[in-house]
Amino acid sequence: MTAVSSQQLAELKALAGPGAHVEDPAELAASLTEWRGLFRGAAPLLLMPDSTAAVSAILAYCHQQRIAVVPQGGNTGLVGGAIPHSTAERSEILLSARRLNRIRHLDAANYSITAEAGCVLATLQAAAADAGRLFPLSLAAEGSCQLGGNLSTNAGGTAVLRFGTTRELVLGLEVVLPDGRVLDSLRSLRKDNTGYDLKQLFIGAEGTLGFITAASCKLFPQPRQTATAWLAVPDVAAALRLYSAARDSLGDELTAFEFANRCSLAFVIKHIPGSRAPLAADSPWQVLLEVSTARESADTGADLERFLADMLEQGTVTDGMVAASGAQRDALWRLRHSMSEAQKIEGASIKHDISVPVSKVGEFVVRASAWAEAAVPGVRVVAFGHLGDGNVHFNLSQPVGADRSAFLARWDEIAAQIHQIAVDFGGSFSAEHGIGSLKVAELERWRGGTTLELMRAIKAVLDPHGIMNPGKLLRAR
Ligand SMILES: Cc1cc2nc3c(=O)[nH]c(=O)nc-3n(C[C@H](O)[C@H](O)[C@H](O)COP(=O)(O)OP(=O)(O)OC[C@H]3O[C@@H](n4cnc5c(N)ncnc54)[C@H](O)[C@@H]3O)c2cc1C
Repeated sequence: MTAVSSQQLAELKALAGPGAHVEDPAELAASLTEWRGLFRGAAPLLLMPDSTAAVSAILAYCHQQRIAVVPQGGNTGLVGGAIPHSTAERSEILLSARRLNRIRHLDAANYSITAEAGCVLATLQAAAADAGRLFPLSLAAEGSCQLGGNLSTNAGGTAVLRFGTTRELVLGLEVVLPDGRVLDSLRSLRKDNTGYDLKQLFIGAEGTLGFITAASCKLFPQPRQTATAWLAVPDVAAALRLYSAARDSLGDELTAFEFANRCSLAFVIKHIPGSRAPLAADSPWQVLLEVSTARESADTGADLERFLADMLEQGTVTDGMVAASGAQRDALWRLRHSMSEAQKIEGASIKHDISVPVSKVGEFVVRASAWAEAAVPGVRVVAFGHLGDGNVHFNLSQPVGADRSAFLARWDEIAAQIHQIAVDFGGSFSAEHGIGSLKVAELERWRGGTTLELMRAIKAVLDPHGIMNPGKLLRAR
């Protein structure tokens, strides 16, 4: 692949259609840096076609001309996957889904929605709610991230415990392959045993195998009752006891079980205007627990109150409150959703998105914290995440007054050790954010051998010229 000529740029703009490109550097800037500011890229052109046919024509041309393409959704990814890296010798074009933003069909009776990849997640949630249905995918970036990005990263979020990751919500997919062919598996069927389930290849592929243009996703009954509690627990072991007891006692109505350490909440209170600690006393760990049901006859609030009274009596929980209104519930979720943002404001941080079996979360946190505090004196452990999924965002904020660059320079050394600890507990170095540019070497380290060989073989078959998101997930060849 080489630098794109002005002739090629003109042809690409024509293929995208009128008003479907950005090339002004000032306008392009927002698409060239990611949320945390860790990656800054370059691209001569961003294309924003509004039809599958136009995406197909663009990719067919890029395939033929050997032009690299970086798919981009809402650009909220946290591993640099949507950032292009053009150089003087080699250009990468940004292909944005932002104008592919139609809801094609909502079938309430089939509990499904068919939507284009550029639909913002919050828009999909609202469309489902308007039809009396629930689209359960939910994450802090839902006001900006797009369905195509959610699919390509197999996003997790706060309702995985009950509804699974994005992958588990997908019924069908429409994908434009790197050579411009369209793979149409946009069916809305619960059962369809017709050989290899090809759509699965593109979910979590981070734009390296094709460009997703639309998907059909599952919907669920809209909850009629929701009860949300903020609880203090002395340690992660107690949080785990609480989790097991909640599953036993509240059953499938347990929808979310999030946890956070003291520092995670303290940074939110310090940096996010309008936030207040929900409980009077400070606690080393807190849990945000939510139950919801579509059953009209249920009394979710009373069930939760009874359960919490038991937990307080046993000493598993030391303090707690149940949201008394929708506004209070929103305020509790805002605290949880603001943790990444607050940590960014506090200073540099080295982040890990690990998972371990749920039963091992406590041991992981204890061992990883001890190692980090010894390796980086004064480091502040900011641990929070989706306890019910065994997913810990085990983040380290720089010691107060430390040099930002010197701290960040230790990223690889520290990450290698934290990932090792996760793997020692049977875990993964990448739970929900994916590989992108950030974790290519880690993927090679932990998923070598047959797994990596097969991944490369699949990439070579679908994208023989390596034009799709080169260097992301797999090293460019
Ligand atoms: C505050 C905050 C909280 C977050 N919380 C969570 C969380 O709880 N759980 C979680 O999983 N993630 C979380 N994320 C990460 C991020 O929001 C998700 O990864 C999200 O799914 C990315 O969607 P996007 O549209 O922004 O994708 P982008 O960032 O634009 O792209 C992500 C990847 O997908 C590829 N891609 C995008 N669109 C397409 C397409 N149409 N076809 C093919 N490839 C495509 C890109 O090339 C890139 O590799 C959070 C991020 C932020 C900033």
